[in-house]
Amino acid sequence: MLLTITTTQSPATDLGYLLAKHPGRAQRFSLSFGAAHVVYPVAQDDRCTAALILDLDPIELVRGRQSDSGSEGLLDQYVNDRPYVASSLLCTAISRVFGGAMNGVSRDRPELAATAIPLEAHLPVLPCRGGEPFLRGLFEPLGYEVVAERLPLDERFPEWGNSVYFAVTLRRVCRLSELLTQLYVLLPVLDDDKHYWVGVDELEKLLAKGAGWLDGHPARDRIVERYLKRDKRLVRQAISRLEAEEAPDAPALEVASEEDEHRLESQLAAAAPGEKPKRLNDLRTEALVAEVRQRRARSVIDVGCGDGKLLAALLKERTIDRLAGTDVSWRSLDVAARRLRLDTLSESQRERVSLFQSSLTYRDARFAGFDLACAVEVVEHLDAERLPAFEHVLFAEARPATVLLTTPNREYNALFEGLPEGRMRHKDHRFEWSRAEFEAWASGVAERHGYSVTFTGIGAADPGLGAPTQMAVFTNGGAS
Ligand code: SAH
Repeated sequence: MLLTITTTQSPATDLGYLLAKHPGRAQRFSLSFGAAHVVYPVAQDDRCTAALILDLDPIELVRGRQSDSGSEGLLDQYVNDRPYVASSLLCTAISRVFGGAMNGVSRDRPELAATAIPLEAHLPVLPCRGGEPFLRGLFEPLGYEVVAERLPLDERFPEWGNSVYFAVTLRRVCRLSELLTQLYVLLPVLDDDKHYWVGVDELEKLLAKGAGWLDGHPARDRIVERYLKRDKRLVRQAISRLEAEEAPDAPALEVASEEDEHRLESQLAAAAPGEKPKRLNDLRTEALVAEVRQRRARSVIDVGCGDGKLLAALLKERTIDRLAGTDVSWRSLDVAARRLRLDTLSESQRERVSLFQSSLTYRDARFAGFDLACAVEVVEHLDAERLPAFEHVLFAEARPATVLLTTPNREYNALFEGLPEGRMRHKDHRFEWSRAEFEAWASGVAERHGYSVTFTGIGAADPGLGAPTQMAVFTNGGAS
């Protein structure tokens, strides 16, 4: 397993300072799964190449993989391509052997470490699951010139066709730390078979290493999915954090993450003795389904439907013959489609439900024609100055007979352990309202558009601070 790094920036042997490995000496480093060697096949003033060679011990590798071997056959544990190809093991070696350089640190050449120089990385055997288009899609948007040559399965038998392996050369004028960091993240993504389990550490590592280039990358989601081994919870968390970083109008206040919101909300153990505590999210779904039933709504639209949990619950309601979900986020809609198993629904079920992408602050004829609309935990994600547009779209244009609208009750936040005073429950919340603020806004909306409105709480209420979630039920008596 081999990676070479070349520069032509004179004096090219300064590469030795950047990597903190002397060009005149071969060096060996022990790793838990074998050894890494660094040698310089070329060390001239106008061109210098450092080679990182991994010498893996397949037995150690299997020992290290014990917990990861669940679905693989015993044979596969011993006979695999790991020792021969560039993979996440190579990345582990990069960080062990070239860690300082990857972090942009150089004791002897700090300015050079901060300078873009012509660099070339060569990987003679790189597994590319997804083929050349995927390989190019990863590196070209970052400004690399990519030269890829597909390797045959077996040179002696060209008729066997091609393997998933490529000989790859990547060229770019950039800082050495950028090249190493991007290889570190993207090689395992190409290989799509990390040798260790992923956990929250990996997510943090990905976000740290991806800083400055991953959020705007066109293949961002696939990178995140593969890097985190498709662990849904981690992937979702990573993407929402990348998006929050990307959002130009994200609130300045650094507030709780989505995970924190769930953790906070699951403190609300509104359980009867002997019963499992329910999460606030589930309590909301139950309250909304009950309300929809009571209103005998035949057609329902969930605006800002997110990942479709409420839609999935409503789909089970036989009395609803038309159900729609809409969200501004394609990603959420994608999760919702999978949750609802849209692709496997029977023809008649398929006709009952639809998902579409749209923004709630722009008119859209598809919002109209429903008995009831749900807007669950959505308004607080809109910028306050966009609220009149939202109000117009939903209450003046779409005009369902009933609107069920929920939002956090800020007063209740004082009861959440671990939520510092003044912080909001979620990073993307633009505001959180007290009961009085919510009621003032909602009453104004009702009055302006000929609705009446009542208020209730969801989740166990505190006598002084109210319930964690507040809900407004708007009705217009069916007049449109
Ligand atoms: N209703 C869901 C999701 C709440 S999170 C639930 O209760 O679980 C808020 C949702 O509003 C997100 O899915 C976000 O993508 C969506 N959203 C935010 N701004 C929006 C806009 N302008 N138009 C449509 N959806 C929006």
